[in-house]
Amino acid sequence: MTLVERFLKYVSFDTQSSEETGVTPSTSGQMVFARYLKEELESLGLEDVTLDDNGYLFATLPANTDKPLPTVGFIAHMDTSPDMSGKDVSPRIVQCYDGGEIVLCADENIVLSPAQFPELLDHKGEELIVTNGKTLLGADDKAGIAEIVSAIVYLQEHPEIKHGKIRIGFNPDEEIGLGAHKFDVEKFGCDWAYTMDGGEVGELEFENFNAASAKVTFKGRNVHPGYAKHKMINSIRVANRFMAMLPSHETPEHTEGYEGFYHLVGISGEVEQTVVSYIIRDHNRTRFESRKQEIEHLVRKINAEYGEGTATLDLHDQYYNMREKIEPVMHVIDIAFQAMKDAGVEPRVKAIRGGTDGAQLSFKGLPCPNIFAGGLNFHGRYEFVPIQSMEKAMMVIVKIAGLVAAR
Ligand SMILES: [Zn+2]
Repeated sequence: MTLVERFLKYVSFDTQSSEETGVTPSTSGQMVFARYLKEELESLGLEDVTLDDNGYLFATLPANTDKPLPTVGFIAHMDTSPDMSGKDVSPRIVQCYDGGEIVLCADENIVLSPAQFPELLDHKGEELIVTNGKTLLGADDKAGIAEIVSAIVYLQEHPEIKHGKIRIGFNPDEEIGLGAHKFDVEKFGCDWAYTMDGGEVGELEFENFNAASAKVTFKGRNVHPGYAKHKMINSIRVANRFMAMLPSHETPEHTEGYEGFYHLVGISGEVEQTVVSYIIRDHNRTRFESRKQEIEHLVRKINAEYGEGTATLDLHDQYYNMREKIEPVMHVIDIAFQAMKDAGVEPRVKAIRGGTDGAQLSFKGLPCPNIFAGGLNFHGRYEFVPIQSMEKAMMVIVKIAGLVAAR
């Protein structure tokens, strides 16, 4: 099977994950796909092919040299986003893309157009795999899986490329934030790994947000409004006062790059009680901590004004920037950087304005930056992947394997 054949086969499996089920994997389709992949990896002659009850599939390509070398892993996720159906995906290959509009579904007039998605124009002349406009494609992250498996086959077919032990890890439920949860880092047994789960060619990511959630509950005192003078405390107005004290421009809609924010994600209120929910994000750990302190400070201020116990705070850290775990092992980045150059790809280091499985894995002891898989417009009907981008990602994996052995 070629890289493209593999990819087209993989997207035929419906592996949409679900926030609702509370089990791992969250949907049975992921296990069906995992079993298929397990058979494929076994038929390729890989060793230690294991699939656990939670749907984590591991395998080993043994070293082809006696030189003592670190073990490096490549990871991709099997599920697709809950945001859109991944059932009956019916992909189509656009040959030699001409830079114009691509009609995905004529009946419903669904068009993939460079007017809305200018990044299409970076792929003129290439072969694009697109949807029929009714489902997502699933390049996120089946492109990553196809690239890893194809790179392994390439290494098997090119024994002149010396490499150490390589581990493969395919996990469920990344899209619901649980991909790393039951990932057995010890059993995986790697010195470091890469997730193949980024977008555009060249992406190399080893920084993500530090993240916390804050829920503030405001207690009011309801009194008949006709007799409320100096008696009533309207919790909605107290909450409003609290919200107004936070910096008005440190919000997602006013920030980019390395700028952090407070994001109001929910509010429900009556006179007696109002609850507001925020998420707090910042790449910089010191600024992240001071954002949390600011929330605590404002809660104290409200209590000083309206009486102790008026506002109560429920503050939780969610995840941290993997940078602090990558910095002590920067060769992990240097190797990926050089591998891209050797594969003819210009590396584009970018800070993720969100989280990643790799961040959680890094804090579980497996340094794990993220490399592009080539797909674009994730999680919806406009998702597409250039075949040339997948080929480049595959070559980056091959080059990494070779570079680790050549150091
Ligand atoms: Zn993904």
